[in-house]
Amino acid sequence: MTERRRFRVTGTVQGVGFRPFVYRHAVALGLVGYVGNDSEGVVIEAEGSSGSLDELTRRLMEEPPPLAHVATLEWATVPTGDGSEGFRIVDSRAAGAPAVAVSVDVATCDDCVAELLDPDDRRYGYPFINCTNCGPRYTIIRSIPYDRSSTTMAGFAMCSACRAEYEDPADRRFHAEPNACPVCGPQLRLLDPDGHVLAEGADVVLEAAGMLLSGHVLAVKGLGGYHLSADATDSAAVAELRRRKARDDKPFAVMVADPALARSLCRLSPAAESALVSARRPIVLAPREPGTAVAEAVAPNLPDLGLMLPYTPLHHLLLAAVGRPLVMTSGNLSDEPIAHDDTDALTRLGPLVEAVLSHDRPIHIRCDDSVIRALPPLASGSQSDKKTVSFGLPEAAGLQMVRRSRGFAPEPIALPVPTGRQLLAVGAELKNTVAVAKETTLVASHHIGDLEHLPAYRSFLQAVNHLSHLAGVEPDLVAHDLHPEYLSTKFAMDLDLPSLAVQHHHAHIASCLVEHGRSEPVLGVAFDGLGMGPDGTLWGGELLVADLTGYRRVGHLRSVALPGGNQAVREPWRMALVWAAASLGEEVAERYGKEVDDRWAAVLALSQHSNTATTTSAGRLFDAVAALLGLRSKVTYEAQAAIELEACAAGVPLTECPGYELVTTRDADGLVLDPSPILARVLADRDAGEPYPLISARFHDGLGRGVALAAAELAGQAGLDAVALSGGVFQNARLTAVVRRELSNAGLAVLVHQRVPPNDGGISIGQAGVAAAANPA
Ligand SMILES: [Zn+2]
Ligand SMILES: [Zn+2]
Ligand SMILES: [Zn+2]
Repeated sequence: MTERRRFRVTGTVQGVGFRPFVYRHAVALGLVGYVGNDSEGVVIEAEGSSGSLDELTRRLMEEPPPLAHVATLEWATVPTGDGSEGFRIVDSRAAGAPAVAVSVDVATCDDCVAELLDPDDRRYGYPFINCTNCGPRYTIIRSIPYDRSSTTMAGFAMCSACRAEYEDPADRRFHAEPNACPVCGPQLRLLDPDGHVLAEGADVVLEAAGMLLSGHVLAVKGLGGYHLSADATDSAAVAELRRRKARDDKPFAVMVADPALARSLCRLSPAAESALVSARRPIVLAPREPGTAVAEAVAPNLPDLGLMLPYTPLHHLLLAAVGRPLVMTSGNLSDEPIAHDDTDALTRLGPLVEAVLSHDRPIHIRCDDSVIRALPPLASGSQSDKKTVSFGLPEAAGLQMVRRSRGFAPEPIALPVPTGRQLLAVGAELKNTVAVAKETTLVASHHIGDLEHLPAYRSFLQAVNHLSHLAGVEPDLVAHDLHPEYLSTKFAMDLDLPSLAVQHHHAHIASCLVEHGRSEPVLGVAFDGLGMGPDGTLWGGELLVADLTGYRRVGHLRSVALPGGNQAVREPWRMALVWAAASLGEEVAERYGKEVDDRWAAVLALSQHSNTATTTSAGRLFDAVAALLGLRSKVTYEAQAAIELEACAAGVPLTECPGYELVTTRDADGLVLDPSPILARVLADRDAGEPYPLISARFHDGLGRGVALAAAELAGQAGLDAVALSGGVFQNARLTAVVRRELSNAGLAVLVHQRVPPNDGGISIGQAGVAAAANPA
C-alpha cells in the first residue's frame, strides 16, 4: 500500500551532505517526494510502500553521512500526491524560527587531497578544492539556511563543470555549497607588506615556500583567520617571529605534513593521534621527543609541543613545497585577536612580515585553532568517569580541551535540564566565549579572547549577534559573572533584559556538569586563577557542594593578601613573599624578598594593609611556589609560572609517595586548606639543595593528595558520590592525575573536563547551564 510521510530532522543536518544522502537513498528505494532545508533543519516528504519508508527511516537514524548528527527525527502521515513527481531536492526556505546546528569547519578529506595531488584532475594544485564531506562551513556562513547565497562564496558564480557536479545527485559535490574550481573559484595572491601583488596563480605557493625556506616570516590566510608562519627548524627565523610579534615565551604551534612526521617530533598516545588526524584538526599538545630539528625557541622551557596537521588544501600544498615543519601561530600582535579580515590583516600583520599569502574568499567569522592536551595515562582502574557522546574523536579519555574553537564551535551541546527561556550567557573576561541556549540545546561560540582588547570586544559583540541568529535564539534572559568590572558583565547589565548573576566558580563546576550531562549534585573542586566571590573577595581555591541550581561553599584554600591586584598576577614573586610571610614568618619573607626584588618591603607592607584585596586562589599558590624556587618571578603570559612549575616535574614519575603535607582547619565557611607546611618544606628542600624537579613533584603530589582527602571527606558528609574538577588550575595534568587517583581510590566518581575547557573558555557554558536549571521548561 502506498503511503506518504512527512519527516522533520533536526541536529547537524545542513552543510553536511544530508540532502544528497536522503536523495540517493530515496531514489534507490523507489520513493517519490522531496527533501529540503528549512530554518529548523531538514524536511522530507517521501511516498512509496511502507516497507521502503521504514527502511528510509532506519537509514536516516542509523547511517547518516559522516559529518551529520541527527538530534531528532519525527514523522507524520500526510495525503499522497499524484505519483508523477519523482524525487527532488528543493530550494531552501527561510520560513520559521531557525533552530539548526550549523556545521563546524572540516579539514580537507582524503578524496579531495588525492585529487589535489593528481596531475590529471581538473583541480590539480587548486587550493580551494572541497566537497560535501569537507571544507569551510561556520567561518563562511553569513546567515541561515545554509546555501551558497548566504555564504562568502556568494560572489563566485559556478562554471558549467562545477554546476554540473553540484546538480548531479551521484556526484561527491552534489550541493557542496563552497564548490569551486580554478576556472570559477577563489584565487591565491602573494602580496608584499604594502599590499602590492608579488605573485598570482600557479607560482604563488612555490614563491611563498621559497621565502619561508630563506628565513622570512609570512602571514598565511587559513580557515578562520591568518597565521604567522616561519620555518620551525630555523632558530633565527623563529626568534625573529617572536621579536616582531612581541611574544616573549608563549609557545608557538607547529604544522607538520603528516602523522609520521608528527610521531617523530612528539610522543603521541593513541588518543592524541586520533585527535590529531581527526577532521577537526585541533592543535594537540604532546610531550616532545628529544633532539628533533624543531628550534628550541618554538616552545621555550616546556616539555610539550603543540602540533597540528594541514586542514586546508593550501596547507597541504605549502607543507609539501616547504618539506619541513612550519610554525603556524595566530596572526596577531601579542594578545590581540587573530586577524581575519583582509584589509585589517594587511594593516596589522603587514609590518610583521615579508609577504602575505592571501586569497579572495572572505572569512565571515574569525575562528582560532582549537587546542587539546594529551594527558599522561592513568593506572588502570582509576578511570571512573562516565562516557559521554562522542564529539567525533574516537576516544576522548586521555584528552583535555584547552581551547574549544575551530572544528568544535558551534557544535550544539545537550543541556542536562531543558529550559523554558531563550538564554544568552556572556562568559568571563579572559579567554571569553559566549553561549546561547533554548529548549534542550546549548550552542557555545568560538574562542573570542581577552575582552580588554578593543578588537576582541568588537568580536564579542559580533559573536553575540551572529550566534543568536544562527541558533535561532532571541534572548529573554542574560546570564553573567558576578564580577562587576568584567566587560561582559557590563554588556549584560546594559541589555534591557532580565539578568542572572552566576558566581564564577559555580559556573566552572556547572560547565563540568553540563559536559557530563549531570543534574544531580556533586562536590565541586574549583581550582582557578581569580573569580569574584559573593563576599567581595577574590575566590579561586573552592570546595563547593553544587548542582546546576545552586551551590554551598564548604571549604576553601587559606586566604592571603593579593598585593597590587593584577600586578600580583604578573609578578609571582609578590605571592611568594605573601605566602612566605603568612606561613613562615616575616624573617623568612624578608630573606626571600631581599633575594628577589628591591620593592619587597613596600609589597610586604601593602600585603599587611587592611584595604588590600585577599584571595583564596590556587593559581596564585602555584605562582608563589614557582617564584620561591626561582623558576619564574615575572610572567609574560597567563599562568606561565604554573605551567613551568608543572613542566619542571615532568621527569619525575607519578608515584604513591604522598609528597608534602597539607593541613586543614575550620572557619565559618567550612574546611580551610592551609598549604603553609608545604611551603615550609619547599623552602627547606630548596635550601638543602634538593633537585627542583623533585621539589615540584612533591608539591604537586602533596597538594593533590590533600585536596582529594578534603574533597572526599566533604563529599562523604554531604552524602555525595561524585566529585567534579574544574577551573584553570586543572589544566595541570599532574595535579589532575593525583587528585583523580586519590578520589577514585576513595570510591568516588570523578568528573573531569574532556570536551569543555576547564579554564574560563568554559564559563559561558556553565552560566547557560545554571540559567537553564533556574528556568526549566
Ligand atoms: Zn572533500
Ligand atoms: Zn568551476
Ligand atoms: Zn576561572
